[in-house]
Amino acid sequence: MAAIPGDTELDRLVSRSRLIGSDRSLVLHGGGNTSTKLVEADHLGRERRVLRIKGSGSDLATAERRHFPGLWLDDLLPLRERAEMTDEEMVAYLGHCMVEPDGPRPSIETLLHAFLPATNVDHVHADAICALANAPDPHRAVREALGDDVAVVDYIRPGFGLSKRVADLASARAVVLAHHGLVTWGASNEESYELTLELVARATQYVELSEIGVASPATDSTDTDELVRLRGRLSRGNRQVLAVDAGQRTIAGRDDVELIAAARSTPDHILRIGGRTCVLRDLDAVDRFEQTYGAVPRVLLAPGIGCVVAAADVRTARVRLELAAHSHRTTAATIDRFGGSSWLSDPEIDDFEQWPLELAKLASAPPAPELAGSIALVTGAASGIGRDVAGDLAGRGAHLVLADIDGEGLLETASGIADAVALVGDLTDPRFVDRVIAGAVAAFGGLDTVVFNAGIAATGALAALGDHDWQRSIEVNLTSHFLLTKRVWPVLQRQGIGGSLVYISSKNAFAPGAGFGPYSVAKAGLVQLMRIAALEGGADGIRANAVNPDAIFAGSKLWSDELRAQRAAAHGIEPDEIERFYASRSLLGRAVSGNDVAEAVAFLASERSQATTGCVLTVDGGVPAAFPR
Ligand code: ZN
Repeated sequence: MAAIPGDTELDRLVSRSRLIGSDRSLVLHGGGNTSTKLVEADHLGRERRVLRIKGSGSDLATAERRHFPGLWLDDLLPLRERAEMTDEEMVAYLGHCMVEPDGPRPSIETLLHAFLPATNVDHVHADAICALANAPDPHRAVREALGDDVAVVDYIRPGFGLSKRVADLASARAVVLAHHGLVTWGASNEESYELTLELVARATQYVELSEIGVASPATDSTDTDELVRLRGRLSRGNRQVLAVDAGQRTIAGRDDVELIAAARSTPDHILRIGGRTCVLRDLDAVDRFEQTYGAVPRVLLAPGIGCVVAAADVRTARVRLELAAHSHRTTAATIDRFGGSSWLSDPEIDDFEQWPLELAKLASAPPAPELAGSIALVTGAASGIGRDVAGDLAGRGAHLVLADIDGEGLLETASGIADAVALVGDLTDPRFVDRVIAGAVAAFGGLDTVVFNAGIAATGALAALGDHDWQRSIEVNLTSHFLLTKRVWPVLQRQGIGGSLVYISSKNAFAPGAGFGPYSVAKAGLVQLMRIAALEGGADGIRANAVNPDAIFAGSKLWSDELRAQRAAAHGIEPDEIERFYASRSLLGRAVSGNDVAEAVAFLASERSQATTGCVLTVDGGVPAAFPR
């Protein structure tokens, strides 16, 4: 193979780490670690031996030089003479050996790398190695697949003890850690890396493990209702979004699915996705799981659906989904190849889940944003209020489904929001409304908030108004919102965790303007639609409220040049005076922005307004004629 590139040994370590990290069959999302031993000058210019090792929490695939803290090797090696050391003692000791005192915390497996005499050491959690190492007799499986010169260490949690045991086996060609992974080494970068590839290839062939990936469910999937119910059940405490891997249907349908659910292919997976998978034959399985383990499951195998994963944000859900795919398939491969598997006992799993070092990592995570795990649909999101509301809700942690007839504008809104789903179409078409609901469920597993914002301006004196213009305004500004209300209802009911419907009406609902009939009548109807939704939804915890803004010009498609000219004429002013005119006639004398509306919507979408339904919130700067009544 080609030489591993780099100008310095540290650069070559970075290159080697990236090669390993980009191979999904070797490590996933932050798993594994690599190191090299080199010579560096200390603060007095003395040349000293240094271990450069991946920092805890960084990812091999995207590693850079700064992700490899250095430790003075000659300060580490005397530890081999110690009989034992707790995690806390070890971490404190490592802290004293740092080349850069403020560098990233070195890997928990630092001493394992330090004690091995070879210059370069690689440690991976390769699926195929784990499939071997989880065999009923790992020693025999490794001997047969990889040869006599590869040693096996029985399971022990990473830390000081494991480092010493591996060091004792330095005369072997490599070491397999039962229920954990592989350790290889070499004088050169190439030697260590090539040995990893060779052993993983041999293991792959032996256990007949095929490539592992995640498959999206078909969009016409019929299990939507079941997913929505599941999301509701999992979200009773904190809101969760779901991700689904349809590729695991075969595994979820196996007779021995309970066996697969009870194991993980590596303890690393326990930390990332929890120790156990829930087999979802019915929703009661979630209750039983919660009673047994004290928390709702994060990973589920659902016969007929595949693997379902829950998290407070969709990125975490997708990472967990990939980890679960590797964990479940590797376990299945072990069972298929060896007729059974060996796995950690319940106390060992608990020991790993309660590992103080890893819990400390979780404790330092930032607090979840207000709308974490929630899913919001915003219509008319291509511009104006809709765009501002969408961006604001996303900033509060909500997952966004955006709909609008203006595809170009919608894509622009979506481009500013991570993981947003954008659906282009006409909301007066019931088939499109169905697609929007299905799109939300397919992307995130359900819905919590709908912001009914799509609308058009419609003007003209009654005597002169075309019949079609009247009908079009009622259709877009009122009927489309009924179509969506009706279709979101069963989703909210199945979830059983309430929901918030926010109707963007207008100051015109209470204070109409002459020549603005088709718009004002539709907006008044929208307030009444909201009230009926509040009346009918209360028993299910579905709250419905309206926001009545006035005169929001920035970024608005509604305020076309034509409309400006018309309304300016109606008020006897010039078109370019219209912003100032609207601002000055309000009690507060200030212009109203889309962000003011977004603030009101966020309040109504959140639990802060949990006691509020059937309410109209004005965002108009104060217009006495438009006070709600
Ligand atoms: Zn490991």
